[in-house]
Amino acid sequence: MIKVSNLSKKYGDHYAVKNLSFEIEKGKVYGFLGPNGAGKSTTMNIMTGYIAASAGDVEIDGHDILKEAEEAKKCIGYLPEMPPLYQDMTVKEYLDFVAELKKVAKTDRKKQVEEVMKKTFITDMQGRLIKNLSKGYKQRVGLAQAMIGNPDVIILDEPTVGLDPKQIIEIRELIRELKKEHTVILSSHILSEVAEVCDEIMIIAKGRLVASGSAENLLKELGSSNTIELTAKGSKKEVSEIVKSIDGVKSCTVDNAAGGCVECFISYDDKKEIRDDLCKKLVSKNIFIYRLLNNSKSLEDIFLELTDDAYVEKIEREEAAKEAEEKAKKEAEKKAKKASIAEQIIDEMKDDEDENEKTDAKTTLEIETDKKEEE
Ligand code: ADP
Ligand code: MG
Repeated sequence: MIKVSNLSKKYGDHYAVKNLSFEIEKGKVYGFLGPNGAGKSTTMNIMTGYIAASAGDVEIDGHDILKEAEEAKKCIGYLPEMPPLYQDMTVKEYLDFVAELKKVAKTDRKKQVEEVMKKTFITDMQGRLIKNLSKGYKQRVGLAQAMIGNPDVIILDEPTVGLDPKQIIEIRELIRELKKEHTVILSSHILSEVAEVCDEIMIIAKGRLVASGSAENLLKELGSSNTIELTAKGSKKEVSEIVKSIDGVKSCTVDNAAGGCVECFISYDDKKEIRDDLCKKLVSKNIFIYRLLNNSKSLEDIFLELTDDAYVEKIEREEAAKEAEEKAKKEAEKKAKKASIAEQIIDEMKDDEDENEKTDAKTTLEIETDKKEEE
């Protein structure tokens, strides 16, 4: 449906979007989730052809957004962060105007405008001037204009920002309705919103896609906190010694608890499964386990971790190191190629010299021969 490949957008020295690649499948709701300034609006503006990328491609239903703009844009309806509403038009006038702009056939216009007004519950407001509408209603008009032309994909940039809780619930309901007939991509800086409405979450930080997948998969893949809480019956010394002897355990704190028990907080290496070993060793020393809890992270913990400056800066450093390595490799290859060409030229020059020497020798020989013949 949509294919974004190696998209970058640079403003001066600063990358608003860096090397973003992803694919959007038909019929799902996708959420761009990221803090302010992450690059969500920039990505959406590029995907919809509002601004050009510095590098990379966007293909919509097989059409390049720049080279086949008209075809590509037909597939998309867009509600930008600042909806382009004409304040002095009535709702109906504005939607008629959008239908004309989108080249909806004249015979279909009336029906389509009525339909989108009905779907966004603004039929009663059609005679009102847009400037007199509440923010919630303005947002619905924005949604309605995105739906005109019946595009396959609807892209909504922060559709609930600035709305009150009741309006937010109404817009979310509308998005759920949209899902029945369209592929939807929305952006938000609010995790709960994306988790509630979207099938697929794409976490964006500093212009990079740092994780993507369904909430369930993100939790499965990134949700292990690598900590265990344990209550066992035994002495602090014994339990602590056993726990620390297990391969993969990084640290362990033990405190006395009621009933001759101890409570233990264990942190371990994320690539190890230590529970089997832990249980076996404790029980073999007659220390019985009363409680064992492998802590997991919430989606919020994952989001905060992945969008944390320190984490993204680590990615940036890794990227810079990789780029420097590739540059050095290319330069070495260039140098080697130059050296090989130089060698080839020297060889050819040598061959020429030999040839010249031969020619010279031949000429001398011919002159000598001629001289001899004259004599
Ligand atoms: P988001 O929508 O996730 O809040 P944006 O895409 O609006 O983020 O912005 C991403 C980054 O690009 C920010 O650092 C922002 O300051 C920068 N940026 C966006 N538009 C421009 C512009 N026209 N000129 C310079 N910098 C820009
Ligand atoms: Mg934005």
